[in-house]
Formats: sequence, structure tokens, C-alpha cells
Amino acid sequence: MDTIESLRNTTPHIAAKFRVLETLDSPKLWNRGASFVTVMLGCKCGSPTLKVKTVRPSAAAVPPAYLTCCHCGMSELLFDEGLHGWNGEMEKEAANVAQSDLVAYSADEGAVLITYSYQNVENYDDLIAEGVKNPEDYFDTFTVYFRQDGASNFASVLSCECA
Ligand SMILES: [Zn+2]
Repeated sequence: MDTIESLRNTTPHIAAKFRVLETLDSPKLWNRGASFVTVMLGCKCGSPTLKVKTVRPSAAAVPPAYLTCCHCGMSELLFDEGLHGWNGEMEKEAANVAQSDLVAYSADEGAVLITYSYQNVENYDDLIAEGVKNPEDYFDTFTVYFRQDGASNFASVLSCECA
């Protein structure tokens, strides 16, 4: 198995708190190609819909994002650029944000997609050669999309260049 295939087939740990409902081709106009992975996330309680919560307005260029479930009360950090992705794995410096400061992107729950990428495969070959055991967590972009129930299109909630 080549490096990109191996990365694509290993779910990053940020998604493990949730249920990966399916892996799909990104809709047209989104970043696509072998280095991009798009998955739909649901809750481990079985709910296929979630809320995305971020901090707005935020001093941070990319606020951390949480996913919450109104069926079971789950509320978990999905993404913090200080902790996750290439730069986050190197820095490990969490954003200083209280959950009470979070605001739901939408009043209703909806479908949540995340897209992440591994665009310069030689960097991942280097990580693996250095003995890094979780190269799949070093994605170089990360985007969260949300589609409210009844809506036809996904909207981008946040997008981060992580490397
Ligand atoms: Zn739930």
C-alpha cells in the first residue's frame, strides 16, 4: 500500500470521538483528488445529525469547532488548529476557549462533513521515516461543512490551512 492510500484508509483521531457514517466524494467545486478525504460524521448514539459550535466573533483566525448532539448531550471538540493537523501536532497549544462561549452555527441540527488532505506526500514519507506513528493526524488542510435539515447545499463553516 502506498503512503497516500495508507493515510486515506486510517481515520484521524479527531474523528474517532464521532461515528464516521460514510466516506464520500466531495461535491463538485470542492477540493478533490487523491490527497483529499471527505467523511460524514454522526454521533455514537446513532444520531446522523449534529450541531457545529464555534466561537463568534473570534480573535482567532480559525476558531475551534465542537460538535454537539441534542439526543444524548454529547459535546466534543472536533478541531482546534493549535492541536490538530500538521501545525497543531507540532505545537500542541490548545485555544483558550470555554465551552460556554460557543455559539451554534445553526439553530437546528444537520449533516456534518469534514474534508482533510495530505497534499505533499513526501512530507508524510518523511514523518513515517522519522517514526511518527500517526501520520494521518498531520493533515495539511481541514474544512467543516454543514447542511441544515431541509437545505439542499452544504455551507463551509470553517476552513484551515494547517501546514
Ligand atoms: Zn448523540
